[in-house]
Amino acid sequence: MKFKSLKQNIFTPLVSTDEWCKKYPEVDREYIWSYPLQYGGKPFNPIDIFRSSDVPLPSLDAVVYIHTPACLFRCPMCPFYVEVVKSRKDIMGYAKAVIKELHMYKKANLTKNLNLNTIYFGGGTATLLYPEDIKEIIDEVKKIIPNKGEIEITVEGHPCTVDYNYLSSLKAYGVNRVSFGIQSFDQNTLSKLGLKQTVEQNEKVLKDSIKLGFKTVAADLLYRTPNQDIKQLKKQLDRFFEFGVHSISTYSLELSIRQGILSKQLPSEEMDQKMFYFINDYMKKKGWVHTAQPDYAHKDHVQKEILTTWKAPQGQTIGLGAGACSSFNGANYYNVHDIEEYINVVNEGCLPVLIGQKFSLEDAMSRYMVLGTRCFEISKVEFEKCFGKKIEEIFSKSLSYLLSKGLITNEEKYFKVTDKGKYYVDNISKQFYSNNNRNHLQPWGEKMKGAVASSYLCVYEE
Ligand code: SF4
Repeated sequence: MKFKSLKQNIFTPLVSTDEWCKKYPEVDREYIWSYPLQYGGKPFNPIDIFRSSDVPLPSLDAVVYIHTPACLFRCPMCPFYVEVVKSRKDIMGYAKAVIKELHMYKKANLTKNLNLNTIYFGGGTATLLYPEDIKEIIDEVKKIIPNKGEIEITVEGHPCTVDYNYLSSLKAYGVNRVSFGIQSFDQNTLSKLGLKQTVEQNEKVLKDSIKLGFKTVAADLLYRTPNQDIKQLKKQLDRFFEFGVHSISTYSLELSIRQGILSKQLPSEEMDQKMFYFINDYMKKKGWVHTAQPDYAHKDHVQKEILTTWKAPQGQTIGLGAGACSSFNGANYYNVHDIEEYINVVNEGCLPVLIGQKFSLEDAMSRYMVLGTRCFEISKVEFEKCFGKKIEEIFSKSLSYLLSKGLITNEEKYFKVTDKGKYYVDNISKQFYSNNNRNHLQPWGEKMKGAVASSYLCVYEE
């Protein structure tokens, strides 16, 4: 199986140490969501996905993530691979292709041992799919992947793309969690950031969702917005509480992936830190759980998708759709980043994988720690159960360093990130990178737009 080689390993570029990491007490702003990275080594052949894993799998809990990389417009600070479309009609045929891709996993007998706990429609704009398409995908996923309990089914939506009827259909089709990129209730801020939704649309979508009775209504908030202070930030948070939202993801506008515009009007680094700890304290006072950085939730609405993807021991993620990323069966791999190519490849009965990497044992152990850090609590017992070794044997130097800085604590069953350490979650994660992964940046989709492979693995249709 031969694949087009991507220039300079663009998925996870190799950079100098200074560019790669910030040394505590400077905060590292690279948002770490994927691990291990693409560092070369043995060429990846997608047939490897269908072979048994070379490393122990920490958990067989599973997320099926359906990626729809289409939007009606492009937001100025967006780091994701997105294709701008005019309407839902422009991606007709996409949902059918997603179902075909899912059937390839079934055909290869890869799903029988899994325990499905989450179906997640993300994007781009997942609400550009018709509700009937979403229903069809949900039904197929449930049919194909075994599950034992209640399945969390999330659809991420953009406030400009849904109305009451649309949401009502989602509810009727079994979606129990909706999540919206609200970002702000201040029109001036929305306009300055070049975001298309209005405050009225933001408010309406939340009101409608609460009225319809979705189990969880979630929203994103951008803070450290131009000229914002703590008082204004509190006002923004309070608006979410007034609407009765159950889960809030809070993103600092300063994240390196979102830079570029308005940098002169952004509150200072010191203010950024103050805002972070303010949010943390405020949510704690409200009795909310800090599930992971940057996600908070009411205790009855903690997101299963986050726990399965990041919390140690991490589960399995099957990513379907153009630009989707999977972490499955001991490998990380990415689909082609082009909707038309994706549909064509899948319709020919082939797996639309572009590039990937099998985990080495070192990768797998590092992954447990790197991603686990995002959820602040790393189980010692599960690590030993999975890898047959104690965490301290493998990561003694990194642990000593982090303990000496007060960023983590060593408790009987867990290493835990301290309140102080929560601001430095990405600095902490990087302490656990294996040598091969160091100096590689996280993959951000926009740079890979249009990336296709020169050939694909065919999985014949029944
Ligand atoms: S920020 Fe969201 S809505 Fe805006 S272009 Fe990116 S994926 Fe689309």
